[in-house]
Amino acid sequence: MKQHQFFNPKLARHEIATIVKYLLGTGFHKSIKQAWQLNLTDISNIQKELFLAMYSKARKNIPYYAARTSLYTECTAPDTWQEFLGSLPIVTKKILRTENEQFVLPKKAWGTTYHTTSGSSGTPIRVWVSPTERAYIDAILNDWYQRLTGMSAHSYPPKINLSGFMTPPKGSVELYWSAFLANEHFINIYNLKQDNAQTLYAVFNQYPKAIFLGYASAIGELARIMGDSMQDIKNKFVAATTSEILTPAYKELIETNLCSKVYDQYGSQEGCHLAMQCSMGNMHVHPLFGIIEIVDADGQPCKDGETGRVLVTSLFRHTMPLIRYELGDEAVINHGNCQCGLQWPLIGSIAGRSEDLVITPDGRRIGYLNFHSTKDLLGIVESQLVQKAPNRFIFRIVLSQQAKHNAELIIQNEQRILAQIRNRLGYDAIEVSFDYLSSIPRDDRGRGKFKAVIVDMEV
Ligand SMILES: [Zn+2]
Repeated sequence: MKQHQFFNPKLARHEIATIVKYLLGTGFHKSIKQAWQLNLTDISNIQKELFLAMYSKARKNIPYYAARTSLYTECTAPDTWQEFLGSLPIVTKKILRTENEQFVLPKKAWGTTYHTTSGSSGTPIRVWVSPTERAYIDAILNDWYQRLTGMSAHSYPPKINLSGFMTPPKGSVELYWSAFLANEHFINIYNLKQDNAQTLYAVFNQYPKAIFLGYASAIGELARIMGDSMQDIKNKFVAATTSEILTPAYKELIETNLCSKVYDQYGSQEGCHLAMQCSMGNMHVHPLFGIIEIVDADGQPCKDGETGRVLVTSLFRHTMPLIRYELGDEAVINHGNCQCGLQWPLIGSIAGRSEDLVITPDGRRIGYLNFHSTKDLLGIVESQLVQKAPNRFIFRIVLSQQAKHNAELIIQNEQRILAQIRNRLGYDAIEVSFDYLSSIPRDDRGRGKFKAVIVDMEV
């Protein structure tokens, strides 16, 4: 196992992007640092200003809102802006999917790009983000990581990343990649085996302090293969998990084997909100990022302690402002105060982010395989990966109306999916049968929640 020896263009692009984002984000650093001291009145005043600026621009410049000014009326009483926000229509995923480009600023800033949301729960949605907006998100995250690692405000927090961003090239045996300028390591999540624990220990031991970043399942898997080998160095590390629920079992495994403390975060590909776990274990919503509302089936605000639908409103995303966008998650509302002292709003436990982990013949567990296999493919409304045996899978697919008659596209998609699964699992002897359905059944045990990956075999 060795580090990359050749020029790696993906890593080089990542380093350049990190530096550009850092430079573009310097103007935000002061207010982001100060956000930790804000009291409730400060938060309300800042959010009022951010919301009203975003809202009036959206009404004027964003085709979707501009065409519906009778619904999106002018806010004439700024002091009751929160009630006003609560009276606006809800934007569902279906609306955002069908009217995708109508939500985007027609005149985009130079360098504005898009990413797509997970294709596993429907046709991917394009999310457009300007370079300044990316820099803002990065500055907020880096500020938090710096606090968690206890690093100085003027350096990049050292990161050990398990996100799956670095897909190994075909036949690669690399275990990790280093982005020196960004002070970051990428661990190959498709190569997490016990045999590699010693090499990984040597990599981790180079750091005086660092933060592990990635899906709860990937960091949990790393903790499992490291076993008790890190006991002498684990207190140098913390971890922040994303995208999936940090279950108590993962939390215990990660904090026993890998680091002193693991913190959950709750965001989304749409980038309208960010909640971060504090030292007391509560989730705080970052007040400069966005607003979360939790409403019942009729769209009315939930009472304290109730579970409801999560609506998000971004406060800085002028390229693609989403107002009361329904994420498809459910969460418990929490109006309480936190003993950690931070005055930011709280959110209770969140449901709707889980999937099973695919298990390989050599015992590795792989997350997000459906998402990575179907990302950027056309014609797929919904898909679900079912593992029936270590090397046997069923891929359930719901096709769009147009794709049903496009045999060429269907074959192309099947080949791409098969290649992705083989590449990501690292072996060719894999059988995938494709099952085309009109809809994908919901799991009753999961309260009707959609599961992108199901492992249906003895483990
Ligand atoms: Zn707290």
